[in-house]
Amino acid sequence: MVQSCRNCQNCAHDLENYCPQMVLTYGAKNVDDTITYGGYSDFMVADEHFVIRIPDAMPLDGAAPLLCAGITVYSPMIYFGLNKPGLHLGVVGLGGLGHMAVKFAKAFGMEVSVISTSPGKKNEAVEHLGADSFLLSTDQH
Ligand SMILES: [Zn+2]
Repeated sequence: MVQSCRNCQNCAHDLENYCPQMVLTYGAKNVDDTITYGGYSDFMVADEHFVIRIPDAMPLDGAAPLLCAGITVYSPMIYFGLNKPGLHLGVVGLGGLGHMAVKFAKAFGMEVSVISTSPGKKNEAVEHLGADSFLLSTDQH
């Protein structure tokens, strides 16, 4: 998103993504009637409300996953209070979103179980990402 009305009920509750006048980063008509080109752009003008600063010390390839897969799992975890030590999170599937869910949950001090149909994901889940347990959903036993 690069813009919203900032006046409607949704915007007033920090739910700008439901604003009927939101302007998406790609393929949308911006407030100046230009079309947004998203990642195909060399540069983009956005309302500062929709911009975050990436610290100089953070590599851009490390920051990029936080901006789509990251916020997709982070936002509901915060909204539903799933960010507290002592809670146990089950992550179904270890793709882009599941990977981020495991990382956030471990950073929040949660216990994490990864549930997958792929036995080859166990090592990645437990050894690489730090999940506490792995459940193979196709295992009949
Ligand atoms: Zn609005």
